[in-house]
Amino acid sequence: MKEENIIKDLCEFMDASPVNFLAVDTVCGRLRDAGFEELDMRAEWSLKSGDHRYVVKNGSAVFAFIVGEGAPSAGFHIISAHSDSPCFRIKPHCEIACEGGAVKLNTEVYGGPILYTWFDRPLSIAGRVMLRSDNPLQPEARTVMFRRPLLVIPHLAIHFNRAVNEGNKLSKQKDMLPVIALDCKESKGMIRKLVAEELDVEPDRIIDYDLSLYSTAKAQVVGADEDMLCSGRLDDLSMVHAGMTALLAEADVKSQNTRVLAVFDNEETGSGTKQGAASPVLEHILRSVIYARGGSERDFMRAVADSFMISADNAHGVHPNYVEKYDPTNHPVLGGGPCIKVNANCKYMTDADSAAVFAEICRRAGVPVQYFVNHSDVAGGSTLGNILTSQIPLRGVDMGAPLWAMHSCCETASCADHIYTVKAFAEFFGM
Ligand code: ZN
Repeated sequence: MKEENIIKDLCEFMDASPVNFLAVDTVCGRLRDAGFEELDMRAEWSLKSGDHRYVVKNGSAVFAFIVGEGAPSAGFHIISAHSDSPCFRIKPHCEIACEGGAVKLNTEVYGGPILYTWFDRPLSIAGRVMLRSDNPLQPEARTVMFRRPLLVIPHLAIHFNRAVNEGNKLSKQKDMLPVIALDCKESKGMIRKLVAEELDVEPDRIIDYDLSLYSTAKAQVVGADEDMLCSGRLDDLSMVHAGMTALLAEADVKSQNTRVLAVFDNEETGSGTKQGAASPVLEHILRSVIYARGGSERDFMRAVADSFMISADNAHGVHPNYVEKYDPTNHPVLGGGPCIKVNANCKYMTDADSAAVFAEICRRAGVPVQYFVNHSDVAGGSTLGNILTSQIPLRGVDMGAPLWAMHSCCETASCADHIYTVKAFAEFFGM
């Protein structure tokens, strides 16, 4: 893909991916367009060098790979990222009838959003719906995305709280409920009815749903020099997009290594689900790839020992209004290139060995590299890398392009950093 098209493509990708299930749908669509075929973990696999395949887990995680030219014991080159972002999930029995016929929805916070960024903006609903089928163990899963704005979380007017700008504590249960209608006669079952209409199915076929709110604001390039990008969910869909773009760009290159793009779900809640990085899902897939080529358990161990993983999850760029929050000597800036994330207490998988590898990959790709370290008095977040290594002892680095306002409903990134990241990933997948 030409450099000038990468950002346009990223914006389209973001707009098509308002929640985890839709993000995985979008990735799968791109993979199929590029000739990848889906594999089922329940089936017997048979693989040969050059095969392009992918596995979907729970509709919200996806693992794509290109089988290497080397022996089954040759290592894996893995880029991992996550499909989920902080948001609001719609609870069961969600409709709440209010005075005058207004209806609000009962929601639960998913992950750690900056709550007040969700106020006073058009919102909509997207996610997964389970439909009744002939087999109770296999309900039919369908994704749904309402493209029109459906809701708003109105803030309390300043006249009722003059101290609002001096810090305003928010209740997730009271302050954050979105309004979906002003004058509704029959609020009960409203969401079910809306979803049924959108999917063109009978309402009583809907057994359950995983539905979330999303901001209908499109991804936008911003700035006098058009060098910033504002969008929800840049963490971590921008890294998913970079990994996917690099894999597809290098798909025809013959590599000894099996190249893998691993997109996990539920990073924002600690990765502890079957489709999250704390489960053995990736290990099972890697092992299956080796067995499907006639390899042995010993080949799997040799392959793991010979592998490298880039765990890609966004970093924090130094914020011009809060320089004091950052480490005194490491100030990754937006536009300065991808950041290697380092933590003395091993919250990141990075060590000098893996940082050196990534720095060399960037150098070969002509990409500048920066370092992110927490201010020692400020606790940082965690990510995928160290959680994954408790499942598979992989050598690898935690990195990510820097962002401002991580977990805001609208985060800010640098366009240049995204292009740098794609280049670095392509260099890695081209090896
Ligand atoms: Zn993240």
